[in-house]
Amino acid sequence: MGKSHRGKGLYKMPAHGRGTCPICGRTRIKLLYPVKIEGAQKNVCKNCRNTDAT
Ligand SMILES: [Zn+2]
Repeated sequence: MGKSHRGKGLYKMPAHGRGTCPICGRTRIKLLYPVKIEGAQKNVCKNCRNTDAT
């Protein structure tokens, strides 16, 4: 593993890993961190990866 959120790895993801962060609502940010939110797995941006928003 390692560096799976950089470079070419992003191109395998839908929208190249970008989208709107469900927590901070920023658009077209890279959503690289799967986090459980209300029981569902969602991807959040780097700013929200450590936020405990269970
Ligand atoms: Zn965010």
